[in-house]
Amino acid sequence: MARSAAATPAAIFEALATHHPGADTELDYRTPFELLVATVLSAQSTDRGVNAVTPVLFARYPDARALASADASEVEAIIHATGFFRQKAKAIIGLSAALLETHRGEVPADMAALVTLPGVGRKTANVVLGHALGVPGLPVDRHVLRVAGRLGLIHTDDAVKAESALTALYPPEQWTRVSDTLILHGRRICLPTPTCDVCHARTLCPFAITGTRRARPVAARGTPAVRTRATVPARSRAATAKKRPAAVTAVRGRGRARKRR
Ligand code: SF4
Repeated sequence: MARSAAATPAAIFEALATHHPGADTELDYRTPFELLVATVLSAQSTDRGVNAVTPVLFARYPDARALASADASEVEAIIHATGFFRQKAKAIIGLSAALLETHRGEVPADMAALVTLPGVGRKTANVVLGHALGVPGLPVDRHVLRVAGRLGLIHTDDAVKAESALTALYPPEQWTRVSDTLILHGRRICLPTPTCDVCHARTLCPFAITGTRRARPVAARGTPAVRTRATVPARSRAATAKKRPAAVTAVRGRGRARKRR
C-alpha cells in the first residue's frame, strides 16, 4: 500500500470528490418546504422511494397551509410506501401546522427554530439549511459516521459530536458538500463491506492501510489525518491484516436523481 504524508482533511475531501463531483442531495424538491417534508419522509426509507411519492403528495398539498389541514388517512395512503407512514403523516401534518402558526407557513433559516418542529432533528434541519436555505449545515447520517470514522476524520459514533468534529475540520462553505460527498461515498463505495481497491482515498485511509478505524485523531485543519504504514509496527500490521475485509471489485453505483423544477 502506497503511503501518503499529506493525508489532511482537505486532501481526503478532494480524493473523495473525484468520485462524486457535484455531490448533492438525491431527494427531489422545488422549495425549502418540499425538501423539509421529503427529508422527514426519508427516515428509514430510500431517497428513490421518497421521490416516488412526493410528486403526488405535493400536487395534492403544495405548501404548509394545505398540508396542515390535510386528512391524515389520505396522507398516510400517499406516503405508505416510505414506511412508518402513520408517524410520518403525523409529523409532516404537525410540522406544517407549526410552520403556519409560528412562521407564516415559511421554513425558518434557523437551526433552533427548525428542531422544534415535529419530526425534525439536527440532521433534517442541516439538510434543509445547507441545500435549500443557503445556511451552512453538515448533516450526519449513518454513512457519514461510517466513512468519516474509517478515514480517521472522527472518533465517535455520536452524530452531534461527529457534526462538531467535522465542522471544525472544514470551512463552513464546504460543510454541506462534505456531507453529501461522504454520504454518496458510503452508498456507492465505502459500503459496510468497503470496495477499497477502487477508492481514490485508499492511500489516505487508516482503515485501508492498517485495517482499523482507530487512527490518530485529526487535531485541526491541515494536520495529517492518518497513521501511515511507516508509523504502524510490523507486528500490528500483521495482526490487523487478518481482520481486513476482502476487497470487492464491483462498484455498485447509481445515477444521481435530478431535482424537480
Ligand atoms: S479506502 Fe476503503 S475504508 Fe477507506 S474510505 Fe475508501 S472504501 Fe472506505
